[in-house]
Amino acid sequence: MAISVPADAATIFPPHVFDQVGRAVQDQLFDRLADISDDLNTIGDKGFKPRLAALLRALGPSPGATARDAAPPELLRRCADFAYRMTGPRDVACLLHGAGRIVRAHGSMGAFFAARWRASGSLRIALGDLVDELCAADFTALLGQRGPTRRLKHLLPHPARGSACKRLNLFLRWMVRGPDGVDFGLWDVPRSALVVPLDTHVHRIGRFIGLTRRKDLSWRTAEEVTRRLRALDQDDPVRFDFALSHLGISGQCASRRDARRCADCSLKPICRFWTTST
Ligand code: SF4
Repeated sequence: MAISVPADAATIFPPHVFDQVGRAVQDQLFDRLADISDDLNTIGDKGFKPRLAALLRALGPSPGATARDAAPPELLRRCADFAYRMTGPRDVACLLHGAGRIVRAHGSMGAFFAARWRASGSLRIALGDLVDELCAADFTALLGQRGPTRRLKHLLPHPARGSACKRLNLFLRWMVRGPDGVDFGLWDVPRSALVVPLDTHVHRIGRFIGLTRRKDLSWRTAEEVTRRLRALDQDDPVRFDFALSHLGISGQCASRRDARRCADCSLKPICRFWTTST
């Protein structure tokens, strides 16, 4: 399924939240995932999609413009009905408020991030700058306090504090790689700079095949896994992320030598369960 991205889409952040076109892209992404495998439909909570759709309707035909132009009370009003797990209306309104401030100052989220990446040459530093900037807005009109909600800070972990920042690295993957039917390729940053979105599945399988010996889900581990994957593809190390993650998500891998489950696994020649077991 082809996903077309408009020329002005670079001003969108993120596509599934900030722009009507991004909404269509996101729908296609969900549909595409559903096409790939029923197993993939078990990713995350299916209750999220209708809530996201309702939020996007409330944000209007151009959520990006709403984030850029709306005053805090209006953002809060538009987000009033959103709730998902621990995230509530004020968290989303804060995110929009912070993002809108960046868009007003820099033209787009992507322009800000690319400039920070060019200045530092470090994805970790650029990502930290993005998190800092999103949280640097004055949230008093939304919260009665200067800083953002604790939940927003939880949703936006800072790489300098050691987190693997899985969600943020996955977001960067969408923005930087492609467009290829899954990733959007909107931001002017080379894909070689990306760091793998290190989830528990990538970490687990990565340990089996020698991508890392580290036991923690940290930024250092994500960098180590990425370094090893870079040896396989210097230009695009993160392209292996989906395959590794899906092997874990699908339940095919039992984390042990299992003749039936491992039969079709192409990682057998390098998996320690096969290379060290008798
Ligand atoms: S060979 Fe078996 S244990 Fe190793 S990664 Fe594949 S499925 Fe998992």
